[in-house]
Amino acid sequence: MTRDTIIWDVDGTLYTFTPKFDASCVSAAAIAARQLGYPGSQEEAEALAREGFDAHHNGLEIFCRDNTITLNDLHRLYHEHIDIAEMPPYARLTSFMRRTEHTHAALTHGSADWAKRVLAQRQLLSFFSPEHIVGMENYNFQKKHESELPFETMLARLGKQPEQCILVEDSHRNLAIPHAMGMETILVHRLLDEPPHYVTHQFKTPELFMRHLHRQQPNKPANRLL
Ligand SMILES: [Mg+2]
Repeated sequence: MTRDTIIWDVDGTLYTFTPKFDASCVSAAAIAARQLGYPGSQEEAEALAREGFDAHHNGLEIFCRDNTITLNDLHRLYHEHIDIAEMPPYARLTSFMRRTEHTHAALTHGSADWAKRVLAQRQLLSFFSPEHIVGMENYNFQKKHESELPFETMLARLGKQPEQCILVEDSHRNLAIPHAMGMETILVHRLLDEPPHYVTHQFKTPELFMRHLHRQQPNKPANRLL
């Protein structure tokens, strides 16, 4: 079975985190929580968000513990406040996507609208059908390292089998379940000295992964840019 579909994680995979971007996420979580009724100041809310990101890799759930703010509302509003203007474009990734024939899909722990904003800013959105952009709200806020549901939801949207898919992630723990399901798994950016068995390949950047795929194509188009 040909692996003709690439499922991309978004955050940390299609861009890299920077201190400025991380600060924007903390600020966005605090603004959104206060808009939804968190009673503390912006500074207090930012301290709580930072605690959530540092301790639990999630700056939102900490605001939802007393059930007055729902994760669904906060999740959507939070992403609207993140400033993505600082991300430099991946010019060569766009070029490689144009020159390969894979179907592209995005599976994020963020919202689908957030993924669309990132893809647009990356100049990649035109490679993705809207129904192939799946956010956490589409799979009941399950986590990729804990549940098959994110991947099953994605496969149902695509009409594909796991054996047709390559999953690209910056977080290795999110690769264990899809690998067991039958996907090829690619780790980027946060490489490991001794990758576990569920990492099929690792590449320093998504562009290098796409270059590898492009070179494997039997009838690749002539390309003077690469
Ligand atoms: Mg990620």
